[in-house]
Amino acid sequence: MHEYHYDKLTWPEIKKATAEDRVIILPVGSTEQHGPHLPLDVDNFLCQAICEGAAQRVPEDVLLMPPMNYGFNWHHIDFPGTIGIGWEPYIHFLLDIVKSVAYHGFKKVLIINGHGSNRQLIEIVARQATMDHPIICAACNYFALGAQAVAETRESPKGWVAHADEFETSLYLYLRPEGVRRDLVQAENNMLPSNFWWQDLIEPAPLGMMEWWSSFSHTGVLGDPTKASAEKGRILYEACVEGLVALIREFKARPLRPREDHH
Ligand SMILES: [Zn+2]
Repeated sequence: MHEYHYDKLTWPEIKKATAEDRVIILPVGSTEQHGPHLPLDVDNFLCQAICEGAAQRVPEDVLLMPPMNYGFNWHHIDFPGTIGIGWEPYIHFLLDIVKSVAYHGFKKVLIINGHGSNRQLIEIVARQATMDHPIICAACNYFALGAQAVAETRESPKGWVAHADEFETSLYLYLRPEGVRRDLVQAENNMLPSNFWWQDLIEPAPLGMMEWWSSFSHTGVLGDPTKASAEKGRILYEACVEGLVALIREFKARPLRPREDHH
């Protein structure tokens, strides 16, 4: 059995791993409020569980990095517990991690994200790192990898699969049921109706915008966690893990094609 945890290897083992073209997986999330019924660790815990599940299935193809458990989310700060990191330190912190693994000789880095508002920043990191080093760095939200299963299982309408919702609560019920305060599960969505702006994990709105979370949610929830179940969570978990395994395989096989400088 291959060890796939990056920080469980020694430096000579890391050196050997670079010759095996292993894909570096960097899980990122956030420590933030998830309503009265879920703990602050939802985005971290779920993202890491998906990454672990995928890495266990292709241990020879990956190295799973220690996660980045804080994210870009000052808009949640009105709810006690949320930790908000500014966009500049966030981007530079991740760029330094990628710079380090690139320096050691790894060629492929996948940033896997569990927190919606990190999306734009990790994409900047991925694009910039690929220009800065002889590597390919890419980024995606883990829930996008299970989009088909979300579409098939969801009972909540568009704009209701957003935060501490049917999707996240189902996954948490499946993976760590004792963490869900079942007596406090309640639906909420006070977003203003719009043809251009809504929040949905798998059906993004055309307009990029974020207001103070407390201006449209009293409980911190955006969605309907009353529709959640552990069985849905199992289906969603399997779909996300399978999606990530497929991505890892394709990304590992992807060649780095040479530049052609036309100056
Ligand atoms: Zn979340």
